[in-house]
Amino acid sequence: MSMNNYILNLLNIEDKNIFILPNIEERVIKNKKYKIIEGFLTYIPDYCPCCGCINESHNDIIKWGYRKNCKIKIPKISNCFSLLILHKQRFFCRNCNKSFIAETSLIDRNKNISNNTELQINLELMTKQSEKDIAKRLDVSTSKIDRKLTEISSHTVLRHSTLPKSMNWDEFKATRDTKGKMAFIITDNDNGNIFDIQDSRKSIDLDKYFRRYSKNERDKVKHISIDFYSGYIFLAKKLFKNAEISIDRFHIVIQAYNALNTTRVKLCYKSNPNYNKLKDYWKLIVKNENELSDKKRYSKHFKKELSQKEIVQYLINTNLELKATYECYQGLINSLKNKDFNKFKSIVLHSNTNVSNKMKQALKLYNDNLKYIENSFKYDINNGIIEGTNNLIKCLKRIAFGYRKYDHFIARIFLIKGIIKE
Ligand SMILES: [Zn+2]
Repeated sequence: MSMNNYILNLLNIEDKNIFILPNIEERVIKNKKYKIIEGFLTYIPDYCPCCGCINESHNDIIKWGYRKNCKIKIPKISNCFSLLILHKQRFFCRNCNKSFIAETSLIDRNKNISNNTELQINLELMTKQSEKDIAKRLDVSTSKIDRKLTEISSHTVLRHSTLPKSMNWDEFKATRDTKGKMAFIITDNDNGNIFDIQDSRKSIDLDKYFRRYSKNERDKVKHISIDFYSGYIFLAKKLFKNAEISIDRFHIVIQAYNALNTTRVKLCYKSNPNYNKLKDYWKLIVKNENELSDKKRYSKHFKKELSQKEIVQYLINTNLELKATYECYQGLINSLKNKDFNKFKSIVLHSNTNVSNKMKQALKLYNDNLKYIENSFKYDINNGIIEGTNNLIKCLKRIAFGYRKYDHFIARIFLIKGIIKE
């Protein structure tokens, strides 16, 4: 291997028509230190790109000086920003009397970022990090990254030919320019992967979306898990004749959880002698009672040694409504955990009259959807998948907030999840 090829190899440059000068300079540009590499691009062209005449001798095309100092950003060398100053050969065609410049696979015409760096941007976009960080590390502008995402987002309209046999529908608050207020996400219950994301959860939009699939394909769907949103139930029944609908367990639990928490917070007023205890031990109150510890430990609020169980018992006994609501909550979450639908149903139908209004609302919601809740006891979706989906949505909500453009946000998610590949 010649010295030049050796250097090209190190720099990851494939074009053998580039000749690198042996001295590498270091220069500070805009407060950043760069390694400056200088090179020439020259070769004997096969033909003239202007008139098409074949280059057979010096009577056809001649070399005609250089276009000097094209600055090209190339990937970092040993973690140092790098700039290739490339002098490109100019040619003159005697046939048409026009001149043209040598071209290289290293960089597209009229660009100053090497194709290697472009590729690097794509790869970086596939990992969880902010676009600002990527721009900074690769020494490109954030608007460059922005343009890249615009380019990629044209591929995010997914065209799956089939629907998942078991899917989960959910929504999350997306970016400010989202069509609907909420974006709609479909995950495949069998593998936990995102199937698709839509920029609206409105029935009219979803109807149109799902009707892209033939009735035959829709009829193959066996199971759809959703939250309590009535629009989804209606839509699922209308479009998916053979699908059983279930409310996913996460959304069942969250109702009772919020009811209990609100009931506790209502008691957290300053003049309540147990204010601090109710405020600081909230985690113990929402914890499954079977997981509370018996081990006594010193409590600064009680100024003595107490077990978690004793603390919870003390707190719920300070208020009748809290006690009834707590017991209702524990019954609900444990019947879910033990997959005991009859127990769940009997709690919903025969609840203690002392439970808080918030819990009564939750129980009414359960009662109205009992049929779909029963299905969620029947269809055992892997807990890990449910959790994965919910974590993903939580993560989406957090990330989405920082995004101005919905398309870019979605492009990022699809890249990170490996749904689209560059
Ligand atoms: Zn020509």
